Amino acid sequence: MSYIQGQTGEWEMVIGLEVHAQVVSNSKLFSGAATAFGAAPNEQVSLVDAAFPGMLPVLNEKCVEQAVRTGLGLKAEINMTSVFDRKNYFYADLPAGYQISQFTQPIVGKGEILLDMADGETRKVGITRLHLEQDAGKSMHDQSPTETFVDLNRAGVALMEIVSEPDMRSGEEAGAYLKKLRAILRYLGTCDGNMEEGSMRCDVNLSMRRKGDTKLGTRCEIKNVNSIRFVQQAIDYEAARQVDVLESGGEIKQETRLWDTAKGETRSMRSKEDAHDYRYFPDPDLLPLVLDPAMVERVKSTLPELPDEKKARFISDYGLKPYDASVLVAEKASADFFEQVAKGRDGKLAANWVTGELFGALNKMGKSIDESPVSAAALGELVGLISDQTISGRIAKDVFEDMLATGKGAAAIVEEKGLKQVTDTGAIEKSIDDILAANADKVAEYKSGKDKLFGFFVGQVMKATGGKANPAMLNDLLKKKLS
Ligand code: ADP
Ligand code: MG
Repeated sequence: MSYIQGQTGEWEMVIGLEVHAQVVSNSKLFSGAATAFGAAPNEQVSLVDAAFPGMLPVLNEKCVEQAVRTGLGLKAEINMTSVFDRKNYFYADLPAGYQISQFTQPIVGKGEILLDMADGETRKVGITRLHLEQDAGKSMHDQSPTETFVDLNRAGVALMEIVSEPDMRSGEEAGAYLKKLRAILRYLGTCDGNMEEGSMRCDVNLSMRRKGDTKLGTRCEIKNVNSIRFVQQAIDYEAARQVDVLESGGEIKQETRLWDTAKGETRSMRSKEDAHDYRYFPDPDLLPLVLDPAMVERVKSTLPELPDEKKARFISDYGLKPYDASVLVAEKASADFFEQVAKGRDGKLAANWVTGELFGALNKMGKSIDESPVSAAALGELVGLISDQTISGRIAKDVFEDMLATGKGAAAIVEEKGLKQVTDTGAIEKSIDDILAANADKVAEYKSGKDKLFGFFVGQVMKATGGKANPAMLNDLLKKKLS
């Protein structure tokens, strides 16, 4: 390919994402069968899920509430009346021969998501709709050389399909969208967002156009990409592929493609021309879904503080930079951890320690914040010791290493190792005098204009005090002595 992936010259990417999010619910959308992950094949299948003749679907109220909750979290319109349709197609893992979904009248309409970009900017992406539908079962082709098996555990599990407007312009934005959507779903408790277990799956729609064009180009859809990293890789590959076709005078065929993880390329799966006619029609077994306004109000009143609101509060209450705030709120557990560290202390300093030293250490250990060997209370103690000038920031890093390794408290380590900062003016002055006396030649050079030597003197005094001299005091006193 002539284009470097991710760089598309005069061409602009246009991306819209469809996300299938498995609803957190103990039972399925239209049956009482369980939904837990990891059960043995066909252990969680009711007669409704297996589409036995005469079985009737009964709508699960909990799933409806979860969809409403998600809609409210996406600042979207809640449609008080929606309709379940049959989407007809034949496949071995779909025993009924149709999927119950929503088509023309979904439960949730237009909404929006704010993306937090690395440069601290935010970008708004429109949500087109959210509808409820059933998941299909799973065909297993790798169990026998001659037969295919079907596992219906997933058949009938409730999914929310969340469709975005074609508002994204890069793989990075698509990644930010998925991270933000996942965070919102997790805060709401409506989907666990676990892409490895398939509880959140993504279809990528991508087209290219010349920068400045307003008309959308023909798109391709890349089905079922199962990690954020793969979504970004698939976008970069597909964008470069489409630009190659367009620049050599060809046309993009609207089609469904696959992301081949092993080869790192997208591949044609089926063209849209022979796309199935699903013959959607309202499911005669189900009445239109009419929501009770009181239920919507009740769900609204139980919404938690969501990432955007938390971020705004962190910025105003703790004086954090927008990007740092968005990093902290990306997971509720880290936001909570930070607030415990920051409570009654210097918020900015606390944020630096959580996003810097702590996240760095956890990353190295491959641990999540819940598994942190240093508790929020312990890190708070350390931050407190820096703020009240018991130790310098430099010494604090060593103390933190010790805390990670030994599990001891910050104050205990400082005491034990005698790391208390020297804030006694006399002691610091004495040390400065000694260093200046021993380096008379350098003092002369400094006075004749070699300003850079200031740092040398600071370093010498620090060395002499075992790094314990209070840096601000040392600076002041040294300046006075040298003037
Ligand atoms: P379908 O169900 O056939 O895939 P939709 O109208 O539901 O069609 O669109 C699916 C997704 O494709 C949406 O996220 C939408 O934003 C996106 N999309 C539509 N047109 C384009 C385009 N020209 N380029 C990129 N994305 C697009
Ligand atoms: Mg689609």
